[in-house]
Amino acid sequence: MSAARYAVIGNPVAHSKSPAIHEAFARETAQNLSYERICAPIESFVASVDAFFEAGGAGLNVTLPFKLAALRYTQNVSERAVRAGAANTLRRDADGVFADNTDGVGLVRDLARLAGAGAPPLRAARVLIAGAGGASRGIIGPLLDAGVARIAIVNRTRATAQALVLQFQNPSVELSAHEYGAAWGESFDIILHATPASLFDARVPLHDDLISEAKLVYDLAYGRGTASDSTEILRHARALGVAHTCDGLGMLVEQAAESFFLWRNIRPQSAPVLAALRAAQAHV
Ligand code: NAP
Repeated sequence: MSAARYAVIGNPVAHSKSPAIHEAFARETAQNLSYERICAPIESFVASVDAFFEAGGAGLNVTLPFKLAALRYTQNVSERAVRAGAANTLRRDADGVFADNTDGVGLVRDLARLAGAGAPPLRAARVLIAGAGGASRGIIGPLLDAGVARIAIVNRTRATAQALVLQFQNPSVELSAHEYGAAWGESFDIILHATPASLFDARVPLHDDLISEAKLVYDLAYGRGTASDSTEILRHARALGVAHTCDGLGMLVEQAAESFFLWRNIRPQSAPVLAALRAAQAHV
């Protein structure tokens, strides 16, 4: 039987780790599949996806800048993708194309792994999110489902954070929107950094006292080095004495594992794949 065909579609996609992750999952679970990169022209997402599925493709991971377009590609959409306002996974089956979003569950699973190693659990945690873009929108619903006690969103443009507060308002969890320069009369257990600043070796201007009082600083981005110091905000948090710091490589692997499950109905083990990526990351 010919291999089922999967791909990551984005622009750019040359540096995507998704092929390595899914090929490792396929080896581990003995699934006969191929996984490629598709760099779609910015204006031709729909035509590129149509062509992939018409040629027999079975599923796609969708990355920047197409996650909103992926949600609009089909009427058959999961509740969590609707809540996130974006889709990162498409699956074609007998009923047509189904769109889902696995980013939030990927983060929650990686945070559970860290809690197993002594970091604060999400249940009853006071969480500060820096950034109000696509990633933040994807994680707030799953954080609420995981039982957090409080979410504050701090963003360069406060109005964008406020829009998320309104979208996700919840009777049992206080959500609020802030600017970086705001006066803070409270502290947080977990800080989640969800802006692209790390990709430019920069960090957002969060107060040092907020950072130093956190028990976990987690950056959704990742870079060179070890899990705990591969981005600027993680290095800064460590210098301020934060006990637990971690980058988003584990989230990447966990969201991929959830996509793989959606496509193949088999759940791969993420730990060995994360360990292999970590080893490779330490040597770049
Ligand atoms: P995005 O939609 O482009 O994020 C935009 C947000 O970041 C906005 O809130 C924007 O503020 C803020 N921002 C942008 N540049 C900034 C800067 N220099 N200083 C302060 N704030 C800045 O990106 P995203 O999709 O949310 O992704 C955010 C990060 O999460 C990226 O590093 C991405 O790689 C990472 N991510 C990781 C995973 C994973 O699996 N590990 C998954 C998804 C995303 P304004 O509103 O003021 O413009």
